Amino acid sequence: MTGPTDWVPAGIDVDQPSAARVYDYFLGGAHNFAVDRALAEQIAAMTPNIGETMRSNRVFLRRAVRYLAGQGIRQFLDIGSGIPTAGNVHEIALEAAPGASVVYVDIDPVAVEHSRAILAGVDRTGVICADVRDVERVISESEKLGLIDFSQPVAVLLAGVLHFVPDSDDPAGVVAALRDAVAPGSYLLISHATADGQPPEVIEAQRLSGRTATEIVLRDGAGITAYFDGFTLVDPGLVFIPQWRPDPGDEVDEHPERVGAYAGVGIKN
Ligand code: SAM
Repeated sequence: MTGPTDWVPAGIDVDQPSAARVYDYFLGGAHNFAVDRALAEQIAAMTPNIGETMRSNRVFLRRAVRYLAGQGIRQFLDIGSGIPTAGNVHEIALEAAPGASVVYVDIDPVAVEHSRAILAGVDRTGVICADVRDVERVISESEKLGLIDFSQPVAVLLAGVLHFVPDSDDPAGVVAALRDAVAPGSYLLISHATADGQPPEVIEAQRLSGRTATEIVLRDGAGITAYFDGFTLVDPGLVFIPQWRPDPGDEVDEHPERVGAYAGVGIKN
């Protein structure tokens, strides 16, 4: 795709790269513009592992959704859900737990439109265009859709999104508000970019992300672990993404830190 087409919602600035579309490009999707691809290529030139990081994040998300369904979770609130690609959360959740409910939330209109298109006719799924920082709205819109009963356990998925929330917008407060909105026995999933174990060029690539509407904030393991306040991390705790419960037969690289991102899942006490 080289420019606006019928899949582009009105009002999109095609000259400003978007985090959702850059991610879509790295995952091999078709919902991105030249400006997104140019930025992705620039980032990739500095951090050749970036594509692997994003794919690894996506595969982690699938493993974790299967795990959560296995723990009896039947409600999934996926915030910063992105542009649909292969193996979306609703597909994994519905396969593992038929009858489960899934709500996607994203701030990006392209991600929201495509989620709507893909979910049309899929029972017990819905999409909200909202900002994770507006937790009250995320909760009330989910309730309005009639898909999430917050008196019952919910899995709140924050995969690859909290690093778009700057410290000045109080990401810890955002996660705490989500925690307070969900019932005991609910789960919190986080994957998050880090500078831990990374070479200096990663920091330079992070600076490039400032060209999208949403700059990435790299946080260390202690800072990301702190988001699980009020939750108990399940085994193996907060680890580099490929180390989180690999499937039997998965090969975990001897340098899992190369992905430059942590993952963890906690259960609300
Ligand atoms: N969760 C998906 C995954 O892990 O495969 C997609 C992750 S993608 C890297 C990050 C997504 O977060 C993008 O779709 C972006 O639009 C969305 N996002 C960024 N800031 C956000 C915010 N403040 N509120 C909601 N979504 C946001």
